[in-house]
Amino acid sequence: MTGKKIITVFGATGAQGGAVADTFLNDPKLKDNWTVRAVTRDVTKDSAKKLESKGAEVVAADLNDKASVAKVLAGSYAVFAVTNYWEKLDRDLEVKQGKDIVDAAKETGVQHFIWSSLLNINKLSNGKFANVYHFDSKADVEEYAREVGIPSTFFLPGFYLSNVPDSFRPSPPNNAWTLSFPVTINATIPIFDTADTGKYVKAIVLNRDKLLGKRIYGATEYTSPAQLIEDFKKLFPEAGKTATYYQLPAETFKNYLKSVGMPDFAALELYENFQLFDEFGYYGGASLDETHALVEDKLTTWTDFIKKSTKFPADLK
Ligand code: NAP
Repeated sequence: MTGKKIITVFGATGAQGGAVADTFLNDPKLKDNWTVRAVTRDVTKDSAKKLESKGAEVVAADLNDKASVAKVLAGSYAVFAVTNYWEKLDRDLEVKQGKDIVDAAKETGVQHFIWSSLLNINKLSNGKFANVYHFDSKADVEEYAREVGIPSTFFLPGFYLSNVPDSFRPSPPNNAWTLSFPVTINATIPIFDTADTGKYVKAIVLNRDKLLGKRIYGATEYTSPAQLIEDFKKLFPEAGKTATYYQLPAETFKNYLKSVGMPDFAALELYENFQLFDEFGYYGGASLDETHALVEDKLTTWTDFIKKSTKFPADLK
């Protein structure tokens, strides 16, 4: 026994969980007090071995096998849990996985359940956007955790900055850098770097008592397509000269997704997901102030993100 608390991290080989594992392994305020138990279905893969070499205890569990989940939770003080809707595109499966983690956390006496949640958009939009399944499913799990009464905090990640570069490229007819989303140029987007996940989760565990039952909104700031372009122009005055925004028509956006293999329902889902930036709000209009007052570490801006991204040419001026 080391006397350290165990945080079990689901999705540890992925973006959010990987960042949580990194923070708890390296942060001076956390590393001496915590052991990271990193969960993957495949302990032999490179990302799992890397976690092990950095000091994590790497364990196998499958979210589709509740007994394996309960096994890895045994002895854990805290849990960071994220599910991946996009692997199977199955709302019911995601809810089942989440509820199984909640039940297993209750059975094993977990003291702090940290759930990567999102809002119920069907409810928020009064049924207007009824197809944003990957939000509603996570909200169902949040509701279930509240019902079951386990000590929980809900972390709501914003719009991944890693989504942006694929929609921001030199485009015909004149090769101008063009950002294309199916929303208005002044839409409100809460931007989030997945690499920051551990900074938020650090704030959550350091403020456990006051954050039980609360939501932490995971976003650096609210920005807009117009501002994303302005920041790009400042960083790259030459390439930025002609940088511009194109509001994708709904059908163009959905047809593109279908053309790359996305099922119709998921294309509609993503379209409705984007509409939150113009209507109702990704976070229902919630302020980020409380989150920012609690997070001690600097959060990544779009400009910081561009500087470290390999998606933009290294010689861009
Ligand atoms: P990711 O990088 O794609 O990694 C997925 C992780 O989930 C992997 O570590 C994988 O582990 C684990 N996993 C998947 N199925 C599992 C299973 N059956 N049992 C055990 N582990 C399993 O994922 P992420 O980006 O961190 O998180 C994905 C979630 O973020 C999605 O549900 C999405 O809705 C949500 N989200 C996305 C955005 C966005 O803007 N893109 C915004 C907010 C929220 P192994 O493969 O190693 O087993």
